[in-house]
Amino acid sequence: MVDNTDNQVVAKQTLRPVVENLEEILYKQIPALDHGFIRVIDYMGDDGAIVQAARVSYGKGTKAVKKDEGLIKYLMRHNHTSPFEMCEIKLHVKMPIFVARQWLRHRTANINEYSARYSILDNEFYIPEHQYIAAQSIQNKQGRRDSALAEKEAARILHILKEDSALCYEHYCEMLNQNQSTGEIIDSNKNGVAREIARMNLTLNCYTQVYWKIDLNNLLHFLKLRSSPHAQFEIRMYANIILDIVKRWVPYVFSAFIDYKLNSYQISAQGIIILREILAGKKVLKEQYDISISEWNELMKIFHLEERKNWINRE
Ligand SMILES: Cc1cc2nc3c(=O)[nH]c(=O)nc-3n(C[C@H](O)[C@H](O)[C@H](O)COP(=O)(O)OP(=O)(O)OC[C@H]3O[C@@H](n4cnc5c(N)ncnc54)[C@H](O)[C@@H]3O)c2cc1C
Repeated sequence: MVDNTDNQVVAKQTLRPVVENLEEILYKQIPALDHGFIRVIDYMGDDGAIVQAARVSYGKGTKAVKKDEGLIKYLMRHNHTSPFEMCEIKLHVKMPIFVARQWLRHRTANINEYSARYSILDNEFYIPEHQYIAAQSIQNKQGRRDSALAEKEAARILHILKEDSALCYEHYCEMLNQNQSTGEIIDSNKNGVAREIARMNLTLNCYTQVYWKIDLNNLLHFLKLRSSPHAQFEIRMYANIILDIVKRWVPYVFSAFIDYKLNSYQISAQGIIILREILAGKKVLKEQYDISISEWNELMKIFHLEERKNWINRE
């Protein structure tokens, strides 16, 4: 669906770089969760813009890296971030308030949010699907478990979420003196309270909207944090959509980001010592190293070391 409200329906010629794959989805709503979406509103630059900026800074030094893709990989690997700041993107995002609360912690973007002091919020509340309603995780104090609650228990949670959202919205409309379905004034002898007061009654799963502009370097940082399994499921759904947008927009950057950042793993100095000893054929014992149990377990998992038990002394 194309939303024409942004005065951007007339095709214009430009000398600026245009990314056909991104143009295809410009202004279109990409659905997220039950009522949310992401739309690309505007963008600046492409893979070439990063290469162009890097070649300015390196001058003749870039002769060694002839291909654009290779240069982008080099920049990503060495954390030479400023060329990535040459590209920018502007998104229109509709998300539940609790997602926005996490999203807006990322300070390196420009934001303009829908004003619930000025306008009345729609009767739209995020209600998770049954399969995503899980108990509190024991290992991760911030997260939920992988498996969903039993059907009966989940049904009760869903009932509470729906009922409370509906009741809060009903009271919100009553405070505004506005009919919930028709939007008409309920009692013409009353003023209704100010929107900035009535909104206090809305729950965190109520939807808000933002225009969000960010450069590519900071966007990648956002994606690294918010597409991680440590991030909350709901914001991860949005991050995954943005990953697809980045893939369309700057394919070389996307592939370098996946290789060197998203699917990479940071090893501490102790971790390197342990790996070196294993490679040298020595048996290693956790207690010999200044490493926490969680870091030790991560190391074992990433390099599949549990499967090579003869290398590890776990007595
Ligand atoms: C899984 C997860 C759990 C989290 N849990 C919590 C929580 O429990 N409580 C909580 O409060 N937050 C929590 N956060 C938010 C987190 O602490 C960060 O605030 C958020 O992820 C933004 O990260 P950032 O500061 O790196 O990003 P940005 O604000 O986008 O900044 C990007 C980078 O710019 C630089 N920068 C930006 N501003 C400054 C500055 N003022 N000074 C110096 N350098 C700056 C830093 O290098 C920073 O990494 C959580 C985040 C994640 C991903």
